[in-house]
Formats: sequence, structure tokens, C-alpha cells
Amino acid sequence: MMAGQLICQQCAAIYERHDLRWRCDCGGVLDLDFRPTFDLSQIAARRPTMWRYREAIPVWDETSVVSFDEGFTPLLPFEWNGRTVWLKQDHLFSTGSYKDRGAAVLISHACELGIQRVVEDSSGNAGCAIAAYCAHAGIECAIYAPNSTSPAKLAQIEAYGATLRLTPGRRENAAQAVQQAAKTTFYASHVWNPFFLHGVKTVAFEICEQLGWQCPDVLIVPVGNGTLLLGVFIGFGELMQAGVIARMPRLVGVQAARCAPLSRMFHGSTEPAASGDTLAEGIAIAEPARAAQIVEAVRRSNGTFLTVSEDDIRTAWQQMGRRGIYIEPTAAATLAGVSHHLETATSDALIVSVLTGHGLKHPAI
Ligand SMILES: *Cc1c(COP(=O)(O)O)cnc(C)c1O
Ligand SMILES: [Zn+2]
Repeated sequence: MMAGQLICQQCAAIYERHDLRWRCDCGGVLDLDFRPTFDLSQIAARRPTMWRYREAIPVWDETSVVSFDEGFTPLLPFEWNGRTVWLKQDHLFSTGSYKDRGAAVLISHACELGIQRVVEDSSGNAGCAIAAYCAHAGIECAIYAPNSTSPAKLAQIEAYGATLRLTPGRRENAAQAVQQAAKTTFYASHVWNPFFLHGVKTVAFEICEQLGWQCPDVLIVPVGNGTLLLGVFIGFGELMQAGVIARMPRLVGVQAARCAPLSRMFHGSTEPAASGDTLAEGIAIAEPARAAQIVEAVRRSNGTFLTVSEDDIRTAWQQMGRRGIYIEPTAAATLAGVSHHLETATSDALIVSVLTGHGLKHPAI
């Protein structure tokens, strides 16, 4: 098989990377087969953006790159519950969330394909990121989102000139509506399109480089559709395959107890699912399309899943604000997860977590 092809997770069917389909004929999710290279001294000499790992990003035509010089966000050592935890400040991206990493690569890929119109569905932040990069690239964009999405995110999507299509009820209704539209328009999906994951993975490269090309022992991330978790799994996997690091960090996925399908799957819970309604709107995903893949990645990293209550989220959000860091409730859920993890963590473990979204996205809780 040639590098750069799309491969179905479910039936192993292969498609060319220029193929416009968003899933396999069998309904399975597609992954990208890609072998990056890393020249550490060359990387060190480049500007501090995520594109310093240029040979590890699957965009071939340089003129197609759509970028705001994003990435290389600060990795901050931070005292939390008596321990030092390193926080990757991905809430500082241009659109206010780490989703810019994925959008930069996915929209560059769309440019490479000559795409002029896209549709996307989102609980907010992916919609903001895709809309911003489409605006930068001159691509027409429609975003499907639940009408319960934070007003600040909806206003931001419209400010980028995207068409907003609001759907009533649960997040899944937006997903259904966009799949109808995707029959005729390119689906720039952060969930289905693997090029998005190959942008998100740069957070793993940056964390390693900022630690002096060392790998953390534990990486704690929020999980909804799993784009961040799968992104870091791909990123650390590529660094291992290239011989840059020797092992994978343990991946700890954080979900809201009120919407925790992956944690339930991982731990084999037989209790009935909770309401799904949580302050952590960015990870309120009842049926993640890549569920099996996410659970497998966590298992293979020797990691685990943990859940946090609404009170835990509120407390972490308030604590972070008092420390001068303003993040959205979904990102606060991660910090609540860090607190839980620290209750049983070994004292010398190097622990890293990611601040995923800015507080201005959802001003008060
Ligand atoms: C999208 C998002 C997440 C979780 O990402 P998934 O890809 O759905 O797992 C976490 N935090 C914030 C702020 C987000 O926007
Ligand atoms: Zn298939």
C-alpha cells in the first residue's frame, strides 16, 4: 500500500487520499496511512509554529497551506493540588480552542483537493475553527450546530462569515442534518476526516519537544468525539516509530459523568446511561463515531478513563479562575479529572494535561 492512502478501520478497504468520501462504503471510519520523518535539528531552527514539523504533516502542495502561524503554545509548569502538572495552553489559539490544529490541516487538505464549499457539524469549537480557516482560504462554509450551543460560539461562527444552521435537541441531530448536506457538499468533519487528526497530533510533537524530546508519563485529556485523544495517540505513535521517543505516555481520558459512553465502554459498566446534559458541552457526545478506536488507543497506552461530576467541573473552573487562568467549562472538566488522577498518582510521574478551550467561549457558569 502507498503512503498517503485512506484505509477503513472496519473492513480495511483502501481509497486514494484525493477521494472525496467521508466514510467507507461499509460505513466504517477512515484513517490515513502516513509515514512522517523528524529531523530534530532542522525542526529546532524553524519558527515556533506547528508547521515546524512540516515533514510530519500530510499536506504535499506548499501553496495549499492555510495557516495563521498557529501552534507552539506555551507548556506551563503549574502547581495543582500540591503537585506540578504541565499545562499545554491550547486555549490560546486564534479561535480559542485546540481545534485550530486540526482545522489548519483539514482546510489545507481541502485546498489541495480544490474544494470550494464545505459543511461541518459541531457543538461549537470545531465549527469556529473550520469557519475561521475557510474564511482565510476563501472557502464557503456552513456549520450545523445544536441551538443550545453557547451564544459566544455561535456569534463567532457567524463573524467568520459562515452560514449557521441550528438544529433543535441533542448534538446528534446536527450530525444527522449535516450528513444529508454531505451528499452534495464536501464534509469537512473533525470527527470523520482523518486529516483533522493529523493536525491535532502536532500537540504531541510540541509537548515532547518542549520537554526536551522527552515523553510524559501520563497525559490527561478530555474526550468527547476523541479527536484530541486520537490525535495524541497518532502523534506519540509516529514519534515512537521514528525512534524519537521510546514509549507512549499513559493516556487518561476524562468524560463528564453525565455523558460518559466511552468510560462506560472501557470499564464495562452495565448501569443505565445518565441524562447526557452537562456543563462540559464540548465533550457531550453520546455516540462517538470512533468509539471502538478510542477505547483501544487508551488500552494500548495502558491508560484509563475517569469521570467528573458537575460539581467537580464547577469547582475546577472556579479554582482555575482564581489562579488567573480563564477556561471554558469543558476545559475545567479536564482539570477536575487531573485532581482525581492525582489522588492515586505515583509521586514522581511527569504529568501533562491540555487546556482545550478559552473562558470567553462560555463566560460564566
Ligand atoms: C472539542 C473539544 C474537546 C474534546 O474534543 P473531542 O474531539 O470531542 O474529544 C474538549 N474541550 C474543548 C474545549 C473542545 O472544544
Ligand atoms: Zn469499510
